Amino acid sequence: MRFEVLTLFPDMLEAVFKSSILGRAADAGFLEINCTNIRDYTKDKHRHVDDTPYGGGYGMIMACQPVVDCIRAVRAKLPPGKTRVIYMSPQGKVFNQQKARELLEYDNLILLCGHYEGIDERIIELEIDEELSVGDYVLTGGEIPAAIVVDAVSRMIDGVLPSPECYENESLQNNLLEHGQYTRPRIFEGKEVPEVLINGNHAKQAEWKRAEMEARTRKKRPDLLD
Ligand code: SAM
Repeated sequence: MRFEVLTLFPDMLEAVFKSSILGRAADAGFLEINCTNIRDYTKDKHRHVDDTPYGGGYGMIMACQPVVDCIRAVRAKLPPGKTRVIYMSPQGKVFNQQKARELLEYDNLILLCGHYEGIDERIIELEIDEELSVGDYVLTGGEIPAAIVVDAVSRMIDGVLPSPECYENESLQNNLLEHGQYTRPRIFEGKEVPEVLINGNHAKQAEWKRAEMEARTRKKRPDLLD
């Protein structure tokens, strides 16, 4: 899968995408993540990308020309395949694990990051397939939300994690939270690892894990069971 992130602040994201699991997955060719600076597409001689809002109001609005030209230029360079253009926005549908799974069907995701007071509405009408929010709060820009989407989707791409088992039994897959996890030592400050995880057979351990997942979800996130 190829991710194209359009932003005024590529430096904010490049370190995230080059590090750890995402960086290794990109180096190994399991995915590609590019950041494009929207400012490179402005035709304004002072390189402005924003302007004051019509009708008054606080702050600056990212203008149509550089953003639309940037989306179209990036889109034109994509390899053939299914593409979705997403605007990161507090007005979008709230992103979750189910949505991350749905996005795996695309070959290319273009993620547009707004900044300042947001973007001109006509950009959404002309170029955007979908708006996604990372939660019901307002951030200064779409960069952190875009990084969240790239990260959540990437770890389910084949090859990025050692095996699909790494995420299949995790929290929020199948609307359940993961069971508690333990590592050495067996006893820490008087607290012991559940006996079944040490001496139980495989079937007993699987049974314990399933029961724990259900109990934990009922306790911490009963809304998931509805
Ligand atoms: N004036 C806009 C409004 O009221 O809908 C909010 C603009 S916000 C300060 C600036 C940018 O941050 C947005 O254009 C969007 O790209 C991003 N952003 C802020 N909160 C977000 C959220 N919860 N999810 C996704 N993107 C968000």
